[in-house]
Amino acid sequence: MKLRGWVNSKRELGGIVFIEILPENSLGLVTVVVKKKESPQAWEVAKGVKLGSAILVEGTYPPISLSKRGREFKADKLEVISTPRAPLPVDLTLKTGIHFDTRLRYRYLLLRTKEERALFKIRANVLKIAREFLEKKGFLEVNTPKICGAGAEGGATVFELEYFGRTAYLAQSPQLYKQMLMTGLTKVYEITPYFRAEKHHTTRHLNESWAIDLEMGFIKGMEDVMEVLEELVCHIIEGVRKECEEEIEILGVEIDSPRRPFARLKYDKVLEILNEEGIHIEWGEDLGDAEERALGKVMKNEGYNLYFITHYPWKTKPFYIMKEDGLSRSFDLDYKGLEISSGGQREHRYEELIKNIREKGLNPKDFEFYLEAFKYGMPPHGGWAVGVERLLMKMLNIDNIRETILFPRDIQRLIP
Ligand code: ATP
Ligand code: MG
Repeated sequence: MKLRGWVNSKRELGGIVFIEILPENSLGLVTVVVKKKESPQAWEVAKGVKLGSAILVEGTYPPISLSKRGREFKADKLEVISTPRAPLPVDLTLKTGIHFDTRLRYRYLLLRTKEERALFKIRANVLKIAREFLEKKGFLEVNTPKICGAGAEGGATVFELEYFGRTAYLAQSPQLYKQMLMTGLTKVYEITPYFRAEKHHTTRHLNESWAIDLEMGFIKGMEDVMEVLEELVCHIIEGVRKECEEEIEILGVEIDSPRRPFARLKYDKVLEILNEEGIHIEWGEDLGDAEERALGKVMKNEGYNLYFITHYPWKTKPFYIMKEDGLSRSFDLDYKGLEISSGGQREHRYEELIKNIREKGLNPKDFEFYLEAFKYGMPPHGGWAVGVERLLMKMLNIDNIRETILFPRDIQRLIP
């Protein structure tokens, strides 16, 4: 039998060399045992092997393993495939702590530990489960441009770039494009990066994040899209619980099954609840981090990890959201005190949409390409976007969003 992997630690004891590796794609550590008496040639190689080397081992698993850290593997042959040019900058046995910055800088090396591998396997599974679920429901996966001629929502938080002598922007979200598609398709989704130039210094914002974005046509109201969101999130959580048992155990977390149906709280009710908690916010203000956390505690006591906040004042929401009696047909989905998704019913009526754009102080001229699509039989539609990193954070009780993405982009981080 052959194993390939990298040397995380090495010990010599009498005529035996012990080499700890995490074989490729595996989550179980293996202690390769090389005995001088039994395989002198392999032993010679093993003695000289450097930490961090990529190796190929041939041998067998003995029937009884005595090693505590990893399953034993008796090596008959050992070949060094690639020798490191410098000592490893991190201790991959994780016996000594690794500074957060160092961990992010050497992410690729940390993937030689079962902890980091488990996290990114779960991340991959979240996307896989989401795709399977949405495909089954009849949604079509689409890809919309990330280089755009207009700032997606008219905000000032876009990255600019030079585009053959013109100014282009990196997409903040696929919002306008997925809505335009509603004149030709009725159920679409996109798994997409968001580029946002906001100068955040928080543990819940990235400048490049990923979302599962969805849009649905011919809806009766926003409850139609909320149902799909609730189902999807539950499906992901239950799917991860079922398909990633080993990974969850490695990370030492407990993932609770969501209580369904999710609670649905109107914005006004949320202000009341917060008031009782001694937190006063002006009607019409958006909820900030402190408010979201406080509400999370109250909802936890009610038995809800996941809950919708609906009917926000229109002024807190973007122009494309449909108005309703001074409020809006919009919602956020919060998970343990953090917004993980926003959505709503969109304004599909051309004249109303133009009014909304003006009311937000924007110029309809800048949105002509988008508005054009509303002239030709645009049905009522709605949708949402779930942040992949935020979902992972809350599901796995991770404090800093940067941990959930391989190479985070924030104000400081542009490399690696
Ligand atoms: P917040 O108010 O928390 O900054 P937002 O309301 O600006 O978020 P939306 O435009 O509603 O974000 O985006 C939809 C979802 O995408 C959010 O609910 C969140 O899960 C995720 N998301 C948006 N911006 C970021 C970001 N900068 N970093 C990480 N995730 C993000
Ligand atoms: Mg939002």
